[in-house]
Amino acid sequence: DNSKKKGGGEQTLTVCLRIRPMSEDEENVGATKIAHAIEKNVLVLRDPMDDHEDILRVNRTREKKFVFDHTFDGDTGQEEVYVKSAKFLTENVINGYNATVFAYGATGAGKTYTMLGIDNNPGIMARALNDLFLEMDKTSEEMVYNVSMSYLEIYNEMIRDLLVPSAGILDLREDAKGGCHVAGLSEVKAKSTDDVMKMLIMGNKQRTQEPTAANKTSSRSHAVLQVTVIQKNKVVNTSEEVRTGKFFMVDLAGSERAANTHNKGKRMVEGAHINRSLLALGNCINALSDKQGAKYINYRDSKLTRLLKDALGGNCKTVMIAHVSPASTQFEESRNTLVYADRAK
Ligand code: ADP
Ligand code: MG
Repeated sequence: DNSKKKGGGEQTLTVCLRIRPMSEDEENVGATKIAHAIEKNVLVLRDPMDDHEDILRVNRTREKKFVFDHTFDGDTGQEEVYVKSAKFLTENVINGYNATVFAYGATGAGKTYTMLGIDNNPGIMARALNDLFLEMDKTSEEMVYNVSMSYLEIYNEMIRDLLVPSAGILDLREDAKGGCHVAGLSEVKAKSTDDVMKMLIMGNKQRTQEPTAANKTSSRSHAVLQVTVIQKNKVVNTSEEVRTGKFFMVDLAGSERAANTHNKGKRMVEGAHINRSLLALGNCINALSDKQGAKYINYRDSKLTRLLKDALGGNCKTVMIAHVSPASTQFEESRNTLVYADRAK
């Protein structure tokens, strides 16, 4: 569908797919690798049931091919993923536009690794902030910049400040311009990448982790890092010369279906909230990529989409990075994720 892609920098939505390396647990249970990035933008998923079929039917494989803007295999490092997926968004934010990058996928597929990263190998959040700092140093002759960050989670449609957990549940309020803001959310002045990384790791430990049958520590919450860049012209000192760019970086809750994890009671409620917000997000980004006619976008369906409203649409750019395990044991989850990501394009 060419109407959805205007090519290069014009594109509103970019969809990437990252396959993580096989885990030790997966190796140990004898899982085979069924997800392959065969070209820089093509992914093949093989149905593991093919292995059990009659040899005569071998040609009738159920391999499925998916095409994205970029596909990353298990050996692709953090820097390359960042450079090819979300780096260009920092420029937009500096120019006063809003941008969003979010990580989608089942629990254990690699979302937090991509967004937050690990101690000595940071993910997109710290790398993007680092680029914002560098860019600002370069242009600070005539402009003065102010970068601040907030880090929150949305769990069961309740918002909590991950940097100040004691603040309790926070309200999402609509402002006069139709945007949304979280009342009472702390804003921290960011200085160096190291500071940022420390703060994020600390904040991430405050996320609501609940055991499910599928995984010991699955994140049932969406974690949202919101970076605000305010830019003032030093020479022309009027209020009109103030530009604001917002950058949302979102580590979504695990996309596994409530039904798949044998959840009951509380777990099932969580699952329902997660499914609803991921569906709402899917609908919003789907409408984004559809350039034909003004489709009604229902941001109101979830806290997540209400919060991101300012950053989904208009001159904003959105990058989705979907995550899958390469293992045959995760076939159903990987297929669901690929279908969701494919639909978003
Ligand atoms: P999720 O946030 O989607 O639940 P994680 O990011 O926590 O998944 O990843 C699960 C495990 O796999 C973690 O131990 C993580 O360090 C590891 N992992 C994920 N992606 C990669 C990768 N690309 N390279 C190396 N290890 C990874
Ligand atoms: Mg995670």
